[in-house]
Amino acid sequence: MQFVEFAAICKKIEEIPGRLETADILAAEFPHLSEEELPVFVRFMRGKLFPDWSSEKLGFGPSLLYDALAYVIGKKRSYVVSAINNAGDVGKVVETLLEKREQTMFFSEELNLLNVYDRFLLMAKTSGRRTQQERLRSAQYLLSNATPLEGRYLARLMLEEMRIGVGEGVVKDAVAKAFGVLPETVEHAHQALNDLGQVAVLAKTDPARLFDVHITIFRPVKMMLAQQGSISAMVATHGKIAAENKYDGSRFQFHKANGKAAIYSRRLEDMTASLPDVVEMLNLATTHDVIIDGEVIAMMNGKPMPFQTVLRRIRRKHDIGGAADAITLCPRVFDILVLDGETLIDMPFTRRREILESVLTDYVAPQIVSDSVDELETFYHESLDRGNEGMMLKVLDSPYLPGNRGKYWIKIKPEVDTIDLVVIGAEWGEGKRAKMFGSFLLACQDETGRLLEISRVATGIDDSMLAALYDLFKDRIISEKGKTVFFEQDVVFEVGYAELQKSTNYAAGYALRFPRFIRLRDDKDVSEIETMESLTRRYSLQNKEE
Ligand code: AMP
Repeated sequence: MQFVEFAAICKKIEEIPGRLETADILAAEFPHLSEEELPVFVRFMRGKLFPDWSSEKLGFGPSLLYDALAYVIGKKRSYVVSAINNAGDVGKVVETLLEKREQTMFFSEELNLLNVYDRFLLMAKTSGRRTQQERLRSAQYLLSNATPLEGRYLARLMLEEMRIGVGEGVVKDAVAKAFGVLPETVEHAHQALNDLGQVAVLAKTDPARLFDVHITIFRPVKMMLAQQGSISAMVATHGKIAAENKYDGSRFQFHKANGKAAIYSRRLEDMTASLPDVVEMLNLATTHDVIIDGEVIAMMNGKPMPFQTVLRRIRRKHDIGGAADAITLCPRVFDILVLDGETLIDMPFTRRREILESVLTDYVAPQIVSDSVDELETFYHESLDRGNEGMMLKVLDSPYLPGNRGKYWIKIKPEVDTIDLVVIGAEWGEGKRAKMFGSFLLACQDETGRLLEISRVATGIDDSMLAALYDLFKDRIISEKGKTVFFEQDVVFEVGYAELQKSTNYAAGYALRFPRFIRLRDDKDVSEIETMESLTRRYSLQNKEE
């Protein structure tokens, strides 16, 4: 497929509002693509360059993009930056600037889906001293061969932000429709493979194999997630139920096979090099090839330390020896997904738990099973007293559903009214904070992944956090309008609030009353932020309690 055709499809989708029409357009295209093109097309549509399990990163931010564009149109960088500041949408600015240059344009090579993908792969794999120059050269090459419309989508791909309203759900529907398979089958295969591109290829070439997919070691799958709920409702629905501590740590997935081991974060980044001690502990605790799921907590003098301490320790990659001495990290394992090549996720939780206990000599998270609300409440309070964040309740006969935030895992914690939102911009501060960002603009997402502004947060951020946030966001500025700056949309805040209110001031239709910064959730991906569906549920729950 030529890249111009790809760009034309993106434009068409961007201009229609409906999810159904989008799935139809995609489903009509899929059968015409080759086996090599199909996975690339599927990923690109969602603004992903590589499979979801892959740790590969393009390593390309807005700053390099501005340099590349300035070079290609023969203007100064400041000219590009001011055009972007005025318009806001990077993709459209690239398109306009390339349009102006068109008369003098000379096509040396036509771009197609596969040569663009190869170029991205080359950029990701570049390493060494001249990495940035090499990446810049590749971006210049792509943009100088692009038509204006291609430029719009190339730029968005380079920033991995397509934002044309194609979410995971739409792609799954389209795969099912295009190849005549059930959406549940697509969903099930996707949970184990964690790459919609590969799922689409299987659906096209050998749909029967969708029923028999296995998790591959060293290709992390998404973590199963929890919903909020109550002890009494869970007991009323399920009777006997499992309860565990809710650890205030950092989620991990540990893989071991053929003498090798790796550990991945909740965002599926490979953390093996930064957590050598945890890898070693788990490696020694089993002789089997496994994928296990757990939480790593920080301990000091036998007491659990707060979550942020663990993150600080993990980020300090360069000083692993020293940092590891000061705080002890300790894994707590609560699930097993693969044992010696066999995928276990469809087994009931109780069976997986038995297997886990039989193959891991240490670190298995303690658990009680009970149908007594009193006993579970006591366990909850004891868990808090032990320094944990709360309690997890898990349904005994539930499968492991990667990436699912369903009704099988319920979290019980004291502070219910916090919400995860993505930071989309900020306003410059005033007075002594004039050179810092004063308040941050926050957004939730609708079911297609479109971001909708919901509130601003300025309180709860002390001076040192404010400085840290300035450092974090200063290189993420995409555009600036008056006192407001807009950022790359990849940082998640956990925010507390007193009440959710209906509001016409924000695109989400809701606003937070008394929003307060709680913490930076750099373990969370933007796809995990609050959805409109869950906001609506929060709103009705809140008003029912009143
Ligand atoms: P939250 O981040 O508030 O949505 O809560 C879900 C998170 O709790 C999971 O992603 C885990 O990182 C963490 N967690 C802590 N203890 C457990 C446990 N025993 N079982 C499952 N998840 C746990």
